[in-house]
Amino acid sequence: MSSTPVTVISGDGIGPEVVDATVRLVDAAGGTVTWEHAEAGAEVFRRGVASGVPQETIDSVARTGVVLKGPLETPIGFGEKSANVTLRKLFETYANVRPVRELPGVPTPYSGRGIDLVVVRENVEDLYAGIEHMQTPDVAQCLKIISRLGCQRIARTALELARAEGRTKVAAASKSNIMKLTEGMLQREFEAAAADYPDLETWHVIVDNAAHQLVKAPEQFEIIVTTNMNGDILSDLASALVGGLGFAPSANLGNGVAIFEAVHGSAPKYAGKDVANPTAVTLSAVMMLRHLEQFDAARRLEQAVFRALEDGIHTQDVKVGAPVGTRAFTDAVVERLGSVSSTPSREHQALKLPHITRESSRSEPGSRQKVGVDVFIETADDAAAIGRRLQGLAAGTPYQLKMVSNRGTVVWPATGGSTSCVDHFRCRFTIVDRAGWQTDSVLDLLQRIGAVYRWMHVEKLEEIDGKPGYTRAQGEN
Ligand code: NAP
Repeated sequence: MSSTPVTVISGDGIGPEVVDATVRLVDAAGGTVTWEHAEAGAEVFRRGVASGVPQETIDSVARTGVVLKGPLETPIGFGEKSANVTLRKLFETYANVRPVRELPGVPTPYSGRGIDLVVVRENVEDLYAGIEHMQTPDVAQCLKIISRLGCQRIARTALELARAEGRTKVAAASKSNIMKLTEGMLQREFEAAAADYPDLETWHVIVDNAAHQLVKAPEQFEIIVTTNMNGDILSDLASALVGGLGFAPSANLGNGVAIFEAVHGSAPKYAGKDVANPTAVTLSAVMMLRHLEQFDAARRLEQAVFRALEDGIHTQDVKVGAPVGTRAFTDAVVERLGSVSSTPSREHQALKLPHITRESSRSEPGSRQKVGVDVFIETADDAAAIGRRLQGLAAGTPYQLKMVSNRGTVVWPATGGSTSCVDHFRCRFTIVDRAGWQTDSVLDLLQRIGAVYRWMHVEKLEEIDGKPGYTRAQGEN
């Protein structure tokens, strides 16, 4: 078999120790990999590279398409963007795959329950797009961007993963009951995609219940697919069920590049002390070998890790018996290569990632009709005064004031509720004559409002195929 080039980034803190251990184990397990060493992280930031990822590393990743990576730090005062997120976004690794499996010899309150699940987290959209604005000096906003493309490809990745790993059940977790358009899009696209997988049992679960169910009965899940923020939280929760961060591997998958790394960070207090647990990175390398379709080497390495743990050999994060150091644990795994543990490895087939393009994911609505505007203003006025003034300002325009809300709850017309207001109001204007929509008429309305109030942004209200492309405020008719 010809050797496959892989970019290896040692990373910061405990990174070099756990990554070196893993490189040694992959080679010893018979992985046919040619390592291309590359840099990223704290030292790179300190040299003045604002992204923390030098061009040579980007070139290496673009060339090899496969990365084994240690954790990266963003030192305080050097750049505001994380080098990890830069790598994930630069190479559009849209699926974060985090397996969580009960390990032999790692006792937890869940031992014996047979936890064996995967959290598939969308990896590039959602609140992590990082689009934030101060709306007023006292009110901040972060945009939650969810695309049909993003939902379709993460849903189909999860469904394909189920088939590749011989699993039978996939649950989608979302907050679609509250965020009907954004989180709801994941639910709808998942349900549409699931129709193409009649061999799998699929269902939707509200994400807060998913957290509850994960703690109560984690063995009911095989694969959970979810949006970025939900997945970040659920996957950390799930990894704690089987022993914590020292045992949590992950893959960041895209159509061109795959990055394999532990879920944990650089644990700086353990750096250079030969105490860190290399298992999370090593199990990430097992995922990498499967991605490279080196299934025998993957099984050999995974079985040797399981066997070492089963034999009671472990680092200090497992709080039973006498721990060994990083190097001694690695030696113990090398000695067990070729032996079999009582915990079998799953049979894996090659994962077929979906090829969904912007064109193929685009919907074709029959009609789109502009029906109004939301204008967001800053004011210390009370709601009754705002309503009165805006009604006057809109007189003579094609618009009429429908309602004013504060943080999503109607405060004008008065509801009889006791909503407390901050200085950030959404003022919803509907167009009286739908044919009368003109950009100029919006600008005229804004000019009138701007003469009295500070406005910070405007959203067009549109109906798509006769259905509102916006949500109602709490209490809006
Ligand atoms: P962390 O490095 O994951 O460490 C948190 C705690 O987890 C450690 O103090 C230790 O717990 C335990 N731990 C983590 N990895 C371990 C291992 N391999 N063996 C044994 N114990 C382990 O999280 P953090 O302290 O929040 O982050 C430190 C730095 O890492 C930050 O700069 C952060 O930005 C970065 N980070 C990078 C990535 C990445 O590159 N993907 C991910 C997360 C964080 P005990 O104290 O209980 O022993």
